[in-house]
Amino acid sequence: MKRIAMLLFVSLLISCSDDSERAIDPDLQEYFDLFKEAGDARGFEIDFEAKNITAEIRTIVDNSILGQCFTNSKEIIIDRGYWDGLSEIDREFLIFHELGHCYLDRGHLDTDNPDGTCISMMHSSPQVCDGNYFPETREIYWDELFNP
Ligand SMILES: [Zn+2]
Repeated sequence: MKRIAMLLFVSLLISCSDDSERAIDPDLQEYFDLFKEAGDARGFEIDFEAKNITAEIRTIVDNSILGQCFTNSKEIIIDRGYWDGLSEIDREFLIFHELGHCYLDRGHLDTDNPDGTCISMMHSSPQVCDGNYFPETREIYWDELFNP
């Protein structure tokens, strides 16, 4: 009986990964790869398929939403217009932030350092602390992201 349930489970998994809708948008792949690299270097074995993470760029009608993670379905949606205007480093920040929610199950953290800069890349908006995510500081933020 247990075996049948297991087989059923496996075939469901296979049919899910075959579904083209359950995948990562090719434009986002390099940032997902970088997240995996950063996580693996910090003791994780990042596996987006095992977590059934999907990610898509499309137009989000609500102008106040630029990117979001649906924590239940593990679905990341990025607004097309916003994405197209972002620099490389800001794209990286956005994907790492959304994966902080969707992959690492983290909530927001708005604490700032004594100099006003954000302690975490999981801050809720640019208004709550000074964004300080740059090529030369990003490793510090990755340390905090994976091991808060
Ligand atoms: Zn967020």
